[in-house]
Amino acid sequence: MCLIELKQSNKPMISCSVNAKTTLLPNTEIYTNSPLVKKARENVLEFLLLNHPLDCPICDQAGECDLQDQSLFFGFTRKRFYNYKKIVIDKNIGPIIKTVMTRCIHCTRCIRFATEIAGVQDLGAFGRSFSTEIGTYISKTFQSEISGNVIDLCPVGALTSKFYPFINRSWELKFINSIDFSDGFGLGIILQIKNKKIIKIHSNFNINKTEWISNKTRFSFDGLFPSDYSLNTEELNNIWFGLFKKLIKLFYFYDHLSRHNLKLKPLFLIFGSTLNNESINLLFFISKRYKFIKLRRNMLVNSSLDLEQYFKFNDLMTSVNFNKSKFCFLIGVNPRYEGFYLNVKMRQRQLKGKFEIFSMNSTIDLTYQVKTLSTNPKFLKIISEGNHILSQYFITSKPSLVLNQRISNRIDSNFFFKSMLIIETYSKLKKNTWNGFNLLSSSLNTVGINILNVFSGFSNKDFLNSTGLFFFNSSLNEISNLNKMLNLKLLNYLAIQVEYFIIKLGCCSKKLLLSKISEYLYLPSSNFFENSGTFISTEGITKISTKILVTNLEKKNDWEILRILLSNSKSLKLLHSTSKLLFLDWNLNRLRNYIIFLAYASQGISNLSFFFNKKCQIIKNRLFKFDICKVNIFNTKLKRFIYDFYLANESYYSRFSFIMIQSSNVLRFEKINFESIFIG
Ligand code: SF4
Ligand code: SF4
Repeated sequence: MCLIELKQSNKPMISCSVNAKTTLLPNTEIYTNSPLVKKARENVLEFLLLNHPLDCPICDQAGECDLQDQSLFFGFTRKRFYNYKKIVIDKNIGPIIKTVMTRCIHCTRCIRFATEIAGVQDLGAFGRSFSTEIGTYISKTFQSEISGNVIDLCPVGALTSKFYPFINRSWELKFINSIDFSDGFGLGIILQIKNKKIIKIHSNFNINKTEWISNKTRFSFDGLFPSDYSLNTEELNNIWFGLFKKLIKLFYFYDHLSRHNLKLKPLFLIFGSTLNNESINLLFFISKRYKFIKLRRNMLVNSSLDLEQYFKFNDLMTSVNFNKSKFCFLIGVNPRYEGFYLNVKMRQRQLKGKFEIFSMNSTIDLTYQVKTLSTNPKFLKIISEGNHILSQYFITSKPSLVLNQRISNRIDSNFFFKSMLIIETYSKLKKNTWNGFNLLSSSLNTVGINILNVFSGFSNKDFLNSTGLFFFNSSLNEISNLNKMLNLKLLNYLAIQVEYFIIKLGCCSKKLLLSKISEYLYLPSSNFFENSGTFISTEGITKISTKILVTNLEKKNDWEILRILLSNSKSLKLLHSTSKLLFLDWNLNRLRNYIIFLAYASQGISNLSFFFNKKCQIIKNRLFKFDICKVNIFNTKLKRFIYDFYLANESYYSRFSFIMIQSSNVLRFEKINFESIFIG
């Protein structure tokens, strides 16, 4: 459709493949709507439609189909082809992409996406002329974590979503912008909604900026609405009434007893890294208000670094900086699973050339060339002491280093961070306007939590000392050993008394087990798209998610639950001290502004700045002497933290998603080796 006519040329030209500078275009006249151009466009469309079926009434693409639009605006109204149309057998290329290959117009967009962007050579064209077909050469699935993008890319209805056949037309859907909840980048997405239900999610695609999204972002939203979602308003109302009565009583008695200096086992509030800043601040207030409440993260964190630049992604992601960087060192990171957006950028950068990537991790196919050096942490010691050839690379212009945030779960995590500080002293890792140190976190608000405070992780010791556990946006699976201990308790091998388990909706699949162990309270609260809040992405950018769905008026969001608990607190003047929940916008906004202010205010402040300046000075004096940092190094190998992109991650919703479970099964089925068999 981009055909043009030049004055000196007797045939039309394809404008998008002509370089205006190097041809005669500047010295000639160009016609974009002449009779010749119109005729040429009609001919192209007639050619495309020769074998295209008349499927529009039953085609899922209808209403958002490029071919439909173009044949309307540029096409020929009569047909001159009265022969049989070509029929192509549909291919099975995976659990999420439905194929109707007869509709394919061989534009090869999907092939180019697979080869150039996803880095997977699975799709191709075979056959010639009338027999040309698109597919996988041998029968297999299109195995990429971003394969779902071909659904958006395909200009016709050849590749569509397998889970929504014949359900809706695009003009019936409402389009609303939101953010991705499944990883640390919080990319822009568009929700397509009908009757208070999410029908589809697709990328925030515009002509200037292409943002691909992962299959998890696109399809895991069915995990947001578990079976309890079907509870009606009256049932929910009763649940809430009973719950708050119990919780407030519990808080009252515990508070009363602790005021009389009775030694009580604490109640632990455990939160996940996807909880928004406002709720974490409120949890923080609650834990300050009551002595017997302890706030814990759902993972162990052993890092003493609390400067913002050491727990976020710094300068690498801006494309200007990325292009200038010549070398990248990945430590314990699998960007393909933990930050697909970074992986796509890495691949694009390497395709441009002059960019070497080294890794310390298990051997993983990242879709581009990576030199894996070692899995032993002691190897990092050799590099930081300057005794390895790689140390030279850090002296080149703009070196970059990506460290996995999960490394801070290791007991020897301080060794990794201190190695970075030593490398900084002799290299160009951090110079003037360039900060090549990057920490990749794979959940939406890890950086926000780190900015707010240094929270301890929930440990086995905490569990043995607890009287109750309150899970907030976190699941039992995320806490190592907790499952094992619960099972031991169930078998009466463990003599502990945990009175309460309080779980937020959708966080727990072990209701039966928990209800046998102790009193089990279950909070039917709202999910990500029913809540509004702020998050700070791994790049340090504030992302705001707004309330999009109201599926049930009695479902409460995180804010409301915590406000009700806080409203019973007399010493905190921030909120109303009545026991009723007040929905006054003015108050809500004021509180929110205050909390956002807190989050911002704490960004640049660190009581450790002095410590670092001092420490760096000492290191400079004794360059390459590692042993001044008295840190333990363990021989535990660095290996991939996530084995299964679809299920094993911090986005707990995906574990409840039928589509993700199916995708995971296909992935495991295709990668049959001992590792895959035993990961479950
Ligand atoms: Fe109609 Fe487009 Fe579907 Fe073809 S791909 S049948 S033109 S809606
Ligand atoms: Fe065919 Fe769609 Fe692939 Fe284009 S993107 S080649 S129309 S399947």
